[in-house]
Amino acid sequence: MPPTATYEDIKAHQENIEKDIITPESLPPCPRCDLESIYFKIHAYRERRFLIIVEMIIRAVFCPLVRFKCPACRKTFTFYPDFAVPHKHYTRQSIVGFAAGYLASETTYEQAVMVEESAPGYPNSDATLAPSSIHRWISRLAHYTQTPRRALNLLLQKNPASPICRDLAQLSPSGRKFRSERRLEQLIRSEKLAMIEALFQATFNCSIFTKLARACAFT
Ligand SMILES: [Zn+2]
Repeated sequence: MPPTATYEDIKAHQENIEKDIITPESLPPCPRCDLESIYFKIHAYRERRFLIIVEMIIRAVFCPLVRFKCPACRKTFTFYPDFAVPHKHYTRQSIVGFAAGYLASETTYEQAVMVEESAPGYPNSDATLAPSSIHRWISRLAHYTQTPRRALNLLLQKNPASPICRDLAQLSPSGRKFRSERRLEQLIRSEKLAMIEALFQATFNCSIFTKLARACAFT
């Protein structure tokens, strides 16, 4: 099974929007004027296209996302549900799942898009999930700093004897996977995020993207 959010995950968020139960308090304070997020007002609903993988076919599912506005300075903020990554159409499950698959083994990008014998494909087309997508997803995941740091703190509070810090320090990507120091750094940072996410899910039974990433403004 390829990693993906499901149609049901996305429709559940749409139902929460329709029931008007998406509230702003899990957002961080306004970065411009520091107002607490509980005072944010609903500003707009923006339709977004998500790509999920159903029986190896890449399907588009549309769902609105809520935008809140700071009433003091009028800055706006999107509320991302836990299957969404800002500025990405594929779902968080696919992005982290395929990236983690590439990072954890001696595969190429071409191999990393494969699920068993084939790559997920677009309907009525020969096009498939592109190896370059995984390359870009790893670059994106490497940007996260606050989210994995806070997740790691929570994990160490829960289990101070955890070997996670030692495991993270020992990461050493294969020399075949990078040609620059910058890419090496991205590989290590994204693999750390994937490892912290896996341990966080095993420990707390939820993703770092469920609340933490939102509270860290996806940084
Ligand atoms: Zn503000």
